[in-house]
Amino acid sequence: MTRQSASAARVKERESAFKCPLCESPMRVADFKSLICSRNHTFDFTKQGYLNLSARPVSGKYTKELFEARRKIITESSLYASVHKEIARAIEEHRGGSADSYTMADLGCGEGSHLHRILEECGSPGMTGIGLDLSKEGIVMASKRYEGSIWIVGDLAKSPLSDKSLNVVLNILSPSNYKEFKRILVQHGLVIKVVPRPGYLKELREALYDREEKKKYRNDETAALFRQHFILADVVHLNYTKELNQAELENMVRMTPLAWSGNQARIYSYINLGSAEITVDLDILIGINKQNDASSR
Ligand SMILES: [Zn+2]
Repeated sequence: MTRQSASAARVKERESAFKCPLCESPMRVADFKSLICSRNHTFDFTKQGYLNLSARPVSGKYTKELFEARRKIITESSLYASVHKEIARAIEEHRGGSADSYTMADLGCGEGSHLHRILEECGSPGMTGIGLDLSKEGIVMASKRYEGSIWIVGDLAKSPLSDKSLNVVLNILSPSNYKEFKRILVQHGLVIKVVPRPGYLKELREALYDREEKKKYRNDETAALFRQHFILADVVHLNYTKELNQAELENMVRMTPLAWSGNQARIYSYINLGSAEITVDLDILIGINKQNDASSR
């Protein structure tokens, strides 16, 4: 079976989860080749297996190099291993042992490694992963590497997902659209949002920026806004440091938008430290979708 038809088969099992990005009509998989809406808007599965369901042309500001570095940090350095474990634990706790089919989407998934690792941590065969990102480069990489999930180029602010089609929304260090999250989650579905705290990657910021240029992460407003939309079931605060080797430091710099505007000489001297500690300081907000009635829209 080609990647294209294998991916079409996976989407076919979940076709009710998709709606047309152009006219919002229901969609179906045709001939294991395309996803077609009831008004005949047609989206072909690519040879890598992903679908482009973006209603507007996408310009990639994230490069392949950045995504490759991100993948290595996420899957090889164990920097985010505790984040994946905590998220899997929260899902297990709230899933309540249900063996029904369970769909989890990472909205703003980049090259897909967080979603892939979290699915691995959950270890449940009945769980389907959907990764959505506006970056085509990220989705191409995800669909080549992680064949078990559904990969979509699309806009999380206007997602091609149907109402109440998901059990879990993951939103990891990425912008949110709570109105959309509420629409696409089932009632009592989970939204798991990872936000940076003040110490997050502080060594990197200190190395690359002058004091006045340092970016501060402020979380009070994020948490308050989150609470307006969801029942806040838990906040997991993670704070730890990890020693990174030279190759990992280099990937760290490459994967972070912080470095794009940084001074090249400083970047090189940071990478050439050989090894350095880096701080992970994050909150994992775990919210429950309260209601799915008109008042929540
Ligand atoms: Zn349509």
